[in-house]
Amino acid sequence: MTKTYVTQPFLPPLEEFMPYLEKIWQEKWLTNNGSFHRQLESKLSDYLGVSHMSLFTNGTIALITALQALRITGEVITTPYTFVATAHSLLWNKNNPVFVDIDPVTFNLDPDKVEAAITPQTSAILAVHIYGTPCDTEKLQQIADIYGLKLIYDAAHAFGVSHNGESVLNQGDLSILSFHATKVFNTFEGGAIICKDEKLKQRIDYLKNFGFADEVTVMAPGINGKMSEFQAALGLLQLDYIDQCIASRKTIANHYREALKETIGIRLLPAGAEGEGNDSYFPILIEKEYPLSRDELYKKLREHDIYARRYFYPLVSDFPMYRGLSSANAEKLPVAKQVSEQVLCLPIYPDLEEEHQDKIIRIITEQ
Ligand SMILES: *Cc1c(COP(=O)(O)O)cnc(C)c1O
Repeated sequence: MTKTYVTQPFLPPLEEFMPYLEKIWQEKWLTNNGSFHRQLESKLSDYLGVSHMSLFTNGTIALITALQALRITGEVITTPYTFVATAHSLLWNKNNPVFVDIDPVTFNLDPDKVEAAITPQTSAILAVHIYGTPCDTEKLQQIADIYGLKLIYDAAHAFGVSHNGESVLNQGDLSILSFHATKVFNTFEGGAIICKDEKLKQRIDYLKNFGFADEVTVMAPGINGKMSEFQAALGLLQLDYIDQCIASRKTIANHYREALKETIGIRLLPAGAEGEGNDSYFPILIEKEYPLSRDELYKKLREHDIYARRYFYPLVSDFPMYRGLSSANAEKLPVAKQVSEQVLCLPIYPDLEEEHQDKIIRIITEQ
């Protein structure tokens, strides 16, 4: 049998992309807010139910620019249970990350612990909707309001996720998205910042284009974060397939859920509210009662050419550039530590065949 990875990017039929490429070749407008870029910003905003969006060449540059746009300084409270880019964006801005432990059910920042970590140097909270599960946005906003902090969401996993009937991307001051090949919606590489007003979008648009406000005016030391016409064209075509992709993910997630719910020692995350999630990942926790350790199961699956991933292990706070921080001390992050030692993300992607999925399930249930 062929190798099964934790994810496999979705690609629309190649012949459907050719007319987009022909248009780019004819017009020779390759980047700098071209017509595909403008169309994607508008169509994607409508699809996601957000008012202002600025497209980026990838999610990490979007994150770094978002912090610049809000002029974040000093300490920023964030989660150790995420992809490294979240914390790296703080170091690139010379901000000081302060790690706070996660909630044992959602694996997102625990608001009670956030409040306890605030100091006079704190300027912002950088939270992540991990696996697309919404953070406790109400409590985080309350805390941000009381202490006068900015609230930024790394929503790289939360494409199309809603919460209480509204896009989760409308929460906080800003959200960022990633359209990397491994994400629910991909433009090979890509990303976006979602914000709530025209003035902030304007500043973000200047910042992603070297700070140019017009031909002769540079208003800030901006960066080159622009999405190209090639990426934007692919995004437009992907939009035709996104509902189908998310529906397939849901079918696969439901099948795992049914098949694994009674396996002793396997803990599943609670299913999100109907129609609100995106099933971007399928994490399971391998608990003490299971016959194998997490790493033994990980290896067993590899022997069968199934490449599950330990997202997120190690914790970001354990990497060399962070582990010296006092907030990185594992004793202060017991929930994150335990989850990172038990978690395994199973393969989930629109083209995952049922036969492959059943094989994965059998290996897990037959130990
Ligand atoms: C993928 C990801 C990013 C980075 O996005 P890129 O588009 O790959 O730069 C940031 N944060 C999280 C949580 C991610 O999963």
